[in-house]
Amino acid sequence: MVYLFEFRRYCQPLQLPLRTAHGVWAKREGLIIRLEDESGAVGYGEIAPIPWFGSETLAEAEEICRKFGDQVDDAVCDAVPPSFGCVRFALAAARSEKIADATVAKLRLPVAALLPAGREALTILSAKLEAGFLAFKWKVGVGQADDELGLLDDLLSRLPAHVKLRLDANGSWTRRQAQQWLERCADRPIELIEQPVAPTEEDTLLGLARDYPVTLALDESVVRLNEARRWQGLGWPGVFVIKPALVGPLSELAEWIITSKADVVISSAIESALARHAIFQLVLTQSLTSRALGFGIGEVFGQRTWDGAILGPLADGTLFTTHPGEALWNELS
Ligand code: MG
Repeated sequence: MVYLFEFRRYCQPLQLPLRTAHGVWAKREGLIIRLEDESGAVGYGEIAPIPWFGSETLAEAEEICRKFGDQVDDAVCDAVPPSFGCVRFALAAARSEKIADATVAKLRLPVAALLPAGREALTILSAKLEAGFLAFKWKVGVGQADDELGLLDDLLSRLPAHVKLRLDANGSWTRRQAQQWLERCADRPIELIEQPVAPTEEDTLLGLARDYPVTLALDESVVRLNEARRWQGLGWPGVFVIKPALVGPLSELAEWIITSKADVVISSAIESALARHAIFQLVLTQSLTSRALGFGIGEVFGQRTWDGAILGPLADGTLFTTHPGEALWNELS
């Protein structure tokens, strides 16, 4: 199949800059691609890299798109190297998802609401509990450990018994700090802890997972599927946090989860409504996980076209009946 190919760059400020252990994130930059096949059917895809997380850079993605010219075929798309996970994700989405297709989603999944680092987490927790959220993720490793451990007690004391809390250290703890946290969390209702130490600390990660009862999840360690497969080979006993927008084609992701029975959290890469639409179309039609989706990031852009449907405590197909591709594309013209 031969497609007409076009791409447009976007840059959207985040309403509230996101504070993580990697620093402050204030704007989202990426590319929207448009493919039109010989029958005139159009598909859109989003390239939303996070280079500090391990994906290709936006410049690298843009260079590949420029090299494509104004036409691509399936062979060219399939030849994009695995290291370009974001480009491969977008090409696959644009090829498979035509805007006329309605989402046929049969599943409902809880959404984990993101709590900001620091004391502000307590305020947001109250509001989100009131809104009915059943799962939360709190960013840690940003402030002083003693302050954060105190806040953890405050957070847990306000959580109803049926509500789950996950922590995300973004790889910022030392081994010693991680041990301190894991001791404190051992008898607490913590669903899991994401990336306690840096991806390079492989022995530490495996040791911590073995030595403590708390479930650990790899996130920065598994930007792409080949890395997740390698960790499976090392005997990783925990969870894999997967950001589909960075990984590559959704069909490859689904196949890996189904064949390897990987325990996954499907998570946001702060993509726009376009990439999210494709991701939700997958996760709400195939039973890939029962864990809360890591998409409770709120309306990060403050614009309906870019944020898409407002996600509540439970995601289902009714949220995704309108395809956001054309509106976004036209906005960038
Ligand atoms: Mg994470």
